[in-house]
Amino acid sequence: MYSIEWQKRGLPHAHILIWMMEKITPNRINEIISAEVLDIEIDKDLHDIVSKNMIHGPCGSLNNNSLCMSNGKCTKKYPRDLLVETITGND
Ligand SMILES: [Zn+2]
Repeated sequence: MYSIEWQKRGLPHAHILIWMMEKITPNRINEIISAEVLDIEIDKDLHDIVSKNMIHGPCGSLNNNSLCMSNGKCTKKYPRDLLVETITGND
């Protein structure tokens, strides 16, 4: 099941629900789910669109005028530390 929606900046994004035959365990998440920016050598136009519209920032001390900023803080809680591995919470 899926639903495609349009973000404010005009790019589509999908909410996808997949029924799997076997349960996925937290240690297998990175084998199944990933996200990456398209190689600029493969498709420069799409690389540029994704880089411009789908990556948060810069904000904070690098850009206090960013739309996400309120009272000197990013409302989306960026910048965040990069993580090597996926982590899961109790919820
Ligand atoms: Zn921000």
